[in-house]
Amino acid sequence: MSLLVVGSVAFDSVETPVDKIDKALGGSATFCSVASSYFSDDVKMSGGVGEDFGEQNIEMLKNHKIDISGLDIVEGEKTFSYGCVYRDDMNVRDTLFTDLNVFEKFDPIIPEDMRGIPYVLLGNIMPSLQLKVLDQMTNLKFSVCDTMNLWINITREDLLKVIKRVNLLVINDSEAKMLADEGNLIKAAKKVMAMGPEYLIIKKGEHGAFLFGEGQIFSAPAFPLETVFDPTGAGDSFAGGFTGHLINASEINFETMKKAVIYGSTLASFCVEKFSTKGIENLSKETIEGRFKEFINLSRVD
Ligand code: AMP
Repeated sequence: MSLLVVGSVAFDSVETPVDKIDKALGGSATFCSVASSYFSDDVKMSGGVGEDFGEQNIEMLKNHKIDISGLDIVEGEKTFSYGCVYRDDMNVRDTLFTDLNVFEKFDPIIPEDMRGIPYVLLGNIMPSLQLKVLDQMTNLKFSVCDTMNLWINITREDLLKVIKRVNLLVINDSEAKMLADEGNLIKAAKKVMAMGPEYLIIKKGEHGAFLFGEGQIFSAPAFPLETVFDPTGAGDSFAGGFTGHLINASEINFETMKKAVIYGSTLASFCVEKFSTKGIENLSKETIEGRFKEFINLSRVD
């Protein structure tokens, strides 16, 4: 199945209690695309980067058979840059800078041949750009959207318009509470779903994820890892793995989403084991299936 992924493509400067890295490949669309490429052989990425993006990054995406014909390399611009530092509790990160650069004036034009794609993953990016993408799609069957605290704070109205139009929203627990202005997670989930999406996934970092929809709740653990190297991109890897698996299911419903949540969590667990995209760059189907099975066994009761 074809999947269109949009979002940021970035240089990330990240400091964790373990180590730090400067200007490494990152961005929501990058992690989402690479993660979903293990499930779909037709992932198309749309977005923009600056002249400084670098051939080796293009090569990495191409190696995953990601179609980057919708990725604009904009002359005279610099690639989006993000900097963050993680606290000792790596569930908490502080943003140091968000330099929009190329995204400041970016107009996402989806190539003509990609507008009819039925499945879209709107990675985290300005909601106004997510809206422009939705406006151009002509045959949408299922759309997934990710976002973050920054956009909830500064572009709430646009974000609400996006949320209203997508089938599934994926956000983390503190963002769900912020969006709903509600401290109890379950009440917050109800309030967020009343804003539009049929399904909602709330990620809880090292505590797993909740899936809500069709009047039901599914709870999945996170993979218990002794060493977390860098959580950056875990949410996006989750969204990519989840969506990539889901669009190949016989039907898209709560039941098939449960398995997709575990595949998403599987990809997220590989992501945090290395800096940047390194943890999800060289996976095999066997490695993914092996961890998926370990995941299932974590909470199986016969
Ligand atoms: P995650 O850890 O899954 O929440 O995503 C981290 C990725 O999101 C990093 O690679 C960043 O480059 C990217 N990112 C951070 N802030 C933003 C933002 N405001 N808009 C779009 N992408 C962002």
